[in-house]
Amino acid sequence: MLTIAVDFDGTIVTHEYPRIGKEIPFAIDTLLKIQKDFQACLILWTVREGRELDEAVEFCNAKGLEFFAVNNNYIEEKESDKQPRKLKADVFIDDRNLGGLPDWGVIYQMIASGNPLKPAPTQLISDYPVKKEGFFKKIFG
Ligand SMILES: [Mg+2]
Repeated sequence: MLTIAVDFDGTIVTHEYPRIGKEIPFAIDTLLKIQKDFQACLILWTVREGRELDEAVEFCNAKGLEFFAVNNNYIEEKESDKQPRKLKADVFIDDRNLGGLPDWGVIYQMIASGNPLKPAPTQLISDYPVKKEGFFKKIFG
């Protein structure tokens, strides 16, 4: 199973931490579709804690997005269980990625390619703004 760690601020919503920013276009729909199409295990991986974390989780839940775990490999994981400390994800989606955060349509295509560690085809990125509407229509119908 593909495990994907997803950041919140700047990735799912615009970066307005500690407030909740505006949803980045198609972030939630894309994550829902990735869950459905590839049975991917989504982990919310964020610097948020306590009430600020609850607000982020509630924001996603209200839009129908439930995470397998939040800031953990699995729900009941304790700090002392974490060996190694780094999350065991196959892929990380984060606005601090080298090269920045691709558009969510590109992220979907990268996951769908079966090799999400391969860089996004530059053609896809450069073509993206012109074909934006058609591209999302193709994915979301
Ligand atoms: Mg971020």
